[in-house]
Parts: sequence; structure tokens; C-alpha cells
Amino acid sequence: MSDPVSYWMSSVDDDLTPRPGVDGDVEADVAIVGAGYTGLWTAYYLAGLAPRLRIVVVEAEIAGFGASGRNGGWCSALYPESLTGLARRHGAERPVALYQEMQRTVDEVGRVAATEGIDCHFHKGGTVVLARSAAQLARARDEVEEARSFGFGEEDLRLLGADEARQRCGASRVLGGTYTPHCAAIHPARLARGLARVVERRGVRIYEQTPATALEARTVHTVRGRVRADVVVRATEGYTPALPGQRRTLAPIYSLMIATEPLPPEFWARAGLAERETFSDHRNLIIYGQRTADDRLAFGGRGAPYHYGSAVRTSYDREPRIHVALAHSLRGLFPDLFPRLGEPRIAHAWGGPLGVARDWTASVGYDRQTGLAWGGGYVGDGVATANLAGRTLAHLITGTDSDLTALPWVGHRWRRWEPEPLRWLGVNAGLWATATADRTEARRGRPSRLARVVHRFTGG
Ligand SMILES: Cc1cc2nc3c(=O)[nH]c(=O)nc-3n(C[C@H](O)[C@H](O)[C@H](O)COP(=O)(O)OP(=O)(O)OC[C@H]3O[C@@H](n4cnc5c(N)ncnc54)[C@H](O)[C@@H]3O)c2cc1C
Repeated sequence: MSDPVSYWMSSVDDDLTPRPGVDGDVEADVAIVGAGYTGLWTAYYLAGLAPRLRIVVVEAEIAGFGASGRNGGWCSALYPESLTGLARRHGAERPVALYQEMQRTVDEVGRVAATEGIDCHFHKGGTVVLARSAAQLARARDEVEEARSFGFGEEDLRLLGADEARQRCGASRVLGGTYTPHCAAIHPARLARGLARVVERRGVRIYEQTPATALEARTVHTVRGRVRADVVVRATEGYTPALPGQRRTLAPIYSLMIATEPLPPEFWARAGLAERETFSDHRNLIIYGQRTADDRLAFGGRGAPYHYGSAVRTSYDREPRIHVALAHSLRGLFPDLFPRLGEPRIAHAWGGPLGVARDWTASVGYDRQTGLAWGGGYVGDGVATANLAGRTLAHLITGTDSDLTALPWVGHRWRRWEPEPLRWLGVNAGLWATATADRTEARRGRPSRLARVVHRFTGG
């Protein structure tokens, strides 16, 4: 359990030696703050479109230190706001275009990983989301109905009967589920670290161990000197509130994970996930899992408390109570398999912050007047979305005419979060309500009214 950042960062194919930091003032054309997926994909596509640009990335720790080196490895077409929620503001057509682009984005990540030789264990086996109660089954049906009403067919999302769902994922008490092919399981840190190497090959300069202390038009102030650039990109997601003036832009919500030791073939013969399908169930408080390339279960979920003042600290990455609850949930999915095959040894436990905007939507944008650009607010669906953000930012910054820059999330301005203590009360009340809704549904079987309220609040 001693991984300094995450199991993933402890199992990458390099030794994590930090690159040199900023040392004095630096001149560039584009300065990107944050070396996670958003920053690195932006650098990647910018360098491809405009090879002569001087692009620098400034990272407080090392590339992949943030959520990009810690996540569940679902490279999925999931977007944080539902089609219905988006359609309320943009009409039906533009949200469909965004969802279709998200589907293509999953393949784009796989394409670049293959072309650039990034061995991130990308395998597109889709996602199975189980329904394990009447309430969950009702939600599965609603989801499919919503997809159909926007023109998405069986090839995008379909309802599974109990047998087919169980065949894909041999959990207990399975009544049915949904399946989408639009997801790949990846080793997230291998993608982040590999991308960092690739952008360097494209001429991008990455400065590590260099926290930015302030971002303003044309200048990034760091603890070790200033970076002057025409364009400054904020790619700090869950860490954004620590920057001056950004305290109420995104709230850092923690997601926590565990990973088992590699599990034996007898386990997998019953548990399935033969295509490394990422898996979850239709409960309200999100859980997510994947079968790793070396046959572990990597499993995570929300439920960790939001910390007063949008604080982000290393000590929050490990919450024993939540890690124990996650192990309990994992055992609860496979209760028939684990006792018989021995208890799974939880070999790793970690977590990290992800960025949530007040209106629960993601955004990417570039203000040509100030030269300030941003991407984030992915609410836990950032693996593929950050790639789309990077491609879009590259087009916006270079003035490239494209369909991407017309997508409805481009230029969206977030409402600010409430000041404390309202923010603390609101976010933690939301987390509590979500967990309570699950307990009520488990008891009564039917969908809880509280769950509907929470879904409305979170853009569902
Ligand atoms: C436990 C967990 C599980 C998740 N699971 C999934 C999943 O399965 N699928 C999915 O799609 N999404 C998932 N997510 C969300 C996803 O990982 C993120 O949305 C995505 O990685 C965000 O990428 P990013 O580059 O915007 O931010 P990050 O990867 O967080 O990168 C931000 C970087 O900025 C750096 N930084 C911060 N402040 C400064 C500063 N002042 N100066 C310089 N650098 C700074 C940080 O050190 C960090 O490296 C998960 C997140 C977590 C935490």
C-alpha cells in the first residue's frame, strides 16, 4: 500500500525522475500549466498543427501526478452532462454532435497510442453497467430510452438481459444491465507518462517541480521565475482552486481507488470481463472497475468528503473508511467468488481530486483578447474528454476552422461556486443524499425520490 501517488504511477515504464524545473525567466508562444492529459494533449496537437510554436508545459510535480496518473482507466465516451441536460440549453442537435465526437475520441486516443508507441494497455472492450435491483433496472431502461430519443441505436447502448449481463460480468444478484462498446480500458499513468515523452519528441519543453503561483494574461508566475507567452493555458482541473482568483471556479471532489493482487484464472473463468470490459452498476453513488492487463481488479468510487475551502492535500488521497467501504463493495459484487477463491488481497489504495463546476458541466475555451485558455470540469469523465479538450484548444489557439470549435461546451463560462460555508454544506449534503438514496433503494427496491433530486442537481 506504499505507492506514493497511485498503483498506476508505481507500475509505469519509466523511473519518474523529475525533469528540470524553470530556472529564471522563459519566453514562449504558448505556456501550458499542468502536465496531465489536458495539458499534454493540448501540447501534442498544437505541436502537430504548428510545429514552429515554442510550447512549454509547467508542472508543479511531475507529469501524470494529478488525476491523469490515478484514475480508473475508463477511456470512455461518457460526458459529464446528460443529453437531456445539454438539450435544454442547446437544442437537440448540438449535444448529439458532442456525444458522437466523444465516441470518436475513444478511438483517437487508441490511434495516437498505437502510432506513437505508447504502451498504455489500451483495449476497447466496452462497458457493462449492471442492474442489481429493481431501482437500478429502472434506471438502466431510462438510460436506453433517453439514448434512443436522441437517435442513438443498439450499436451505441443496449439493454442486457440477466444472462447476457452475467456472462459479461459474473457478479451476484444481476437482473440485467446496459452495454456500450464505446470504452477502452487503459493503464492511465502509462498514457500520461508516454504522452509526456511524445510531446518532448515534438519539441515541447516540459518543466517539472515548478508550481505556478499566478496565471495572468501573457504571464505565468512560478516559484522559480516567470514564463512569458502570448497564450496561457490553465490545465490544472481539480487543483485549480489553489490558484489565486480561482477558489470558486471548480470544486475538488475526491475519488478513491483500490487494486487487488493479480487474481487467478479460476476467478476470471467465473467473473468474466473477458474483453476487459470496464464495469459498474446503476447505483447512484458512482463505482467503477476494470480488469487490468495483468488480471487485477482496479476498483474505485466516490463518497469521500469534500474538504472545507476546496482544500487539496496529499493526506486526503487516503481515507481508510472509504477504502474499506470500497473493498466491501467489491466483495459485494462477487460474494460467490471471493470466499471460495480466497479473499482478494487489496494490495494498493489511493485517490485524488477531480474538478467539478457549479453547473456540473465541462468546458474548454480560449479568450483571444487576454490569451487565456482553459479546459476541465470533467467530473470524473476526463480521460477521453481531455483529449477532445486538447484537440479543440489546438484548433482555437491556431485559429483552425473545424467542427470541434462549434461543439456546445466550447466557450462555456461556469457559474462560480458559493462561498464557504455554503459550498461545504451543499457538496457534502449532495454526497450524503446520494449515498442515502442507494441505501433506501437497496431496502425498498424501487427508485428513491432523493435520487431523482440528486440527478436533477448534477445535470442528469
Ligand atoms: C481516482 C480517480 C478516478 C478517475 N477515474 C476516471 C475514469 O475511469 N475515467 C475518466 O474518464 N475519468 C476519470 N477520472 C477523471 C480524470 O482522471 C480527470 O478528469 C483527468 O485526468 C483530468 O486531467 P487534467 O490534465 O485536466 O488534470 P490532472 O491530471 O489532475 O492534471 C493537472 C496537473 O496540474 C498540475 N498542477 C496543479 N496546480 C499546478 C500549479 N499551480 N502549477 C503547475 N502545475 C500544477 C498537477 O500537479 C497535475 O499534474 C478519475 C479521477 C480520479 C481522481
